[in-house]
Amino acid sequence: MKITGEHIEKLRTLLARPGQRFVIVSHTNPDGDAVGSSLAWAEILRGMGHEVTCIVPNKYPYFLDWMEGIDEIVVFKTDTEGRAVRAIEEADAIFCLDFNAVSRLEILSETIEANTTARRILIDHHLSPDGGFDLALSFPDSSSTCYVVYSVIEALCGTEAITRRMAEALYVGMMTDTGNFAFSFLTPGLFRAVAVLVERGISIPTIHNNVYNAYTEGRARLFGYAINRKMEIIQDGTVAYMSLLESEMRRFQFQQGDSEGFVNYALTIKKMKMSAMFLAHRRFIRVSLRSRGDVDVNLFARKYFNGGGHKNAAGGKSFVSMEETIAHYIRSVKEFAEEGHLG
Ligand code: 5GP
Ligand code: MN
Repeated sequence: MKITGEHIEKLRTLLARPGQRFVIVSHTNPDGDAVGSSLAWAEILRGMGHEVTCIVPNKYPYFLDWMEGIDEIVVFKTDTEGRAVRAIEEADAIFCLDFNAVSRLEILSETIEANTTARRILIDHHLSPDGGFDLALSFPDSSSTCYVVYSVIEALCGTEAITRRMAEALYVGMMTDTGNFAFSFLTPGLFRAVAVLVERGISIPTIHNNVYNAYTEGRARLFGYAINRKMEIIQDGTVAYMSLLESEMRRFQFQQGDSEGFVNYALTIKKMKMSAMFLAHRRFIRVSLRSRGDVDVNLFARKYFNGGGHKNAAGGKSFVSMEETIAHYIRSVKEFAEEGHLG
């Protein structure tokens, strides 16, 4: 990650006038990185004397409920008082964290497109960001947006500005987006950042426990069901997929976030190169993709599911039935393999 002096100077200019009103938005189905980076960035901006409203399109998963300050995040979907729209209308600038295209805001996209001409600043780590940002701090070689935010803070005002609460928020994103420090882009710089967060007094075991050991019984049983009954393996044991219908989710009292990690599980099988999860929603099927090594699911998601993400973790949507979605996946995997993308 190379944050240039130009990036920082532009940001410094933008933040110079005190008392501005800022909005921080993050993606649909906000995860630990989306929430963690939003909370930490909000606190830095507030520390500079600005007013900040954090907005997410829909609710974050319940295993993040313990995070300090999370209650202040406005959930657009259930925002009956119009706080989100008002904050967006009044915003001097909008910070877009942990996503690369306004369309990823889904139900919130229209509001951002129609209700404001405020400058948009991107702080993110997804591949191929859209061109519509006034300033883009886009670092696809960073393992998380939280690490980008950490590095921006370091360059902008020094890590002394990081409080314990911010450190906790930043650690959540670093931990969750790296699969607990097991995926790619695990640079020395990231671990130096973690060292600073530990210096601020965070408890890694407590955070780990709060995030990963906080599921419901229904989630544990749904996981067993999904692996045992719904995981299918194709392509000579190298590609997997799993699907969950709404009726199946209801049977296990499904809550937002309960399927987190399911798609990764197939990759614990030694031969596995790529895994997919199809989660039924009322109007479409959400597609999650994971891969190992050189297999590029960002490319796969773009090509076959109108989506994107990272090389080893991507997603998209399907607007046909579950059967058709699965058939499309199987055909696409074959084509992808024939083109040599599966190694
Ligand atoms: P997840 O499977 O955890 O929902 O998403 C994995 C990655 O793919 C995330 O980085 C996420 O931002 C990206 N992603 C998920 N769904 C979509 C989508 O519909 N469009 C795009 N462009 N990216 C997505
Ligand atoms: Mn992220």
